[in-house]
Amino acid sequence: MDKIELLAPAGSLEKSKVAFLYGADAVYAGTSKHSLRTRTEMDSDSLEETIKYAHSIGKKVYVALNIYAFDQDYKEIEEEVKRLNKINADAIIVADGGIVEIIKSITPNMPIHISTQANTVSLHGAKFWSNNGASRIILARELSKDKIKYIMENKPKDLEMEMFIHGAICFAYSGRCYLSQYLSDRSANSGECSQPCRWKYNLYAEEVNKPGNKIELDYDEKGTYAFSSKDLCLIDKIPEIIEMGMESLKIEGRLKTEYYLATVVRAYRQAIDDYYKNKSNWDSKKYLKELITVKTRGLSEFYYSDNNNYDIHDFSGKNENGIYEYGAKVIEEKKDNIYIVEIKNKLTIGDILEVLNPNGIDIQSFIIKKLYDINTNESIETINPGVKGQKVKMEIPYKVEKDYIIRRKK
Ligand code: SF4
Repeated sequence: MDKIELLAPAGSLEKSKVAFLYGADAVYAGTSKHSLRTRTEMDSDSLEETIKYAHSIGKKVYVALNIYAFDQDYKEIEEEVKRLNKINADAIIVADGGIVEIIKSITPNMPIHISTQANTVSLHGAKFWSNNGASRIILARELSKDKIKYIMENKPKDLEMEMFIHGAICFAYSGRCYLSQYLSDRSANSGECSQPCRWKYNLYAEEVNKPGNKIELDYDEKGTYAFSSKDLCLIDKIPEIIEMGMESLKIEGRLKTEYYLATVVRAYRQAIDDYYKNKSNWDSKKYLKELITVKTRGLSEFYYSDNNNYDIHDFSGKNENGIYEYGAKVIEEKKDNIYIVEIKNKLTIGDILEVLNPNGIDIQSFIIKKLYDINTNESIETINPGVKGQKVKMEIPYKVEKDYIIRRKK
């Protein structure tokens, strides 16, 4: 059995580098306005650079062109498909059958991945796409384990399957929601969702005889976040998903920070590698312990384990930040354990920091003993991030490398 692919989001070249360092086999990125990733930082040039970088280290980049296009969009889409072919994208992610046809006619050898936005929920749907040029299906998130298993057991052999294992989920059917368009004039179906389902809502009754007289209704003791979904987390199910023969495991989070990416990718990387090394002793606890160190809205196995989808909401509007925050990113090694790091949050002598080691799940922690101004070399006591990209020299008692992520205990 080939090893399953771990696929991470890439909002920028820098985030791609972090994702690869922490164990992603491939990343997915958007192309300006033709994907559902329009608010990410990936412009045309950085996409090309990301692909070059990925190929130089034997990794892959899949590019999303997953809008539902109107006829007037097609001229531009044709140009984009030609460009993606020229810059050697490893696959194009598509939801719209019209765009599939364009890719097939312009670049017949380009692998086509059917986006989760196409809502493939059946073997019949998967076969349709397979017969029409798809090399991979990104399954809809609204599928239970049994339904996924049935598709895996009966799909065409050469059709690859990918599924989401971690990240935000919609209270609506993925990609079929107008709440954001209605409330903030930003369409979720064009990648612009402002996530109003996470907002706090109040219910009112209006008395029949007194129009305009609103009576606020208490929702119940749990609060009023009626639509707020938890986050998907299938860490506990990694062994059975691997045994089903799934080809790729996808992490959601195109707008997440490098720190989030490093933490989540690293946990799943270790979970996957450890499972292949020692199937009988595998236990999800240590990976889950890491996954809850970053911000979550509560974790759920969503439809995978719950056909009726009862375990999706967190009515209290929980938005847990975990006990850590992004501390710093290693930029360069000087000498004698002194490194230049980019500051991400306030750092003070005496703070406890932890290095996220890409080569294992164990954490290397240390107390900040020395900080130096990057220009004057003067010792300093504390430093705030201030302008973006601000750096400091710091003593780190471990061998670390460029792009290692360091977290800070709050
Ligand atoms: S508003 Fe919420 S449910 Fe609707 S598309 Fe956005 S994230 Fe999904």
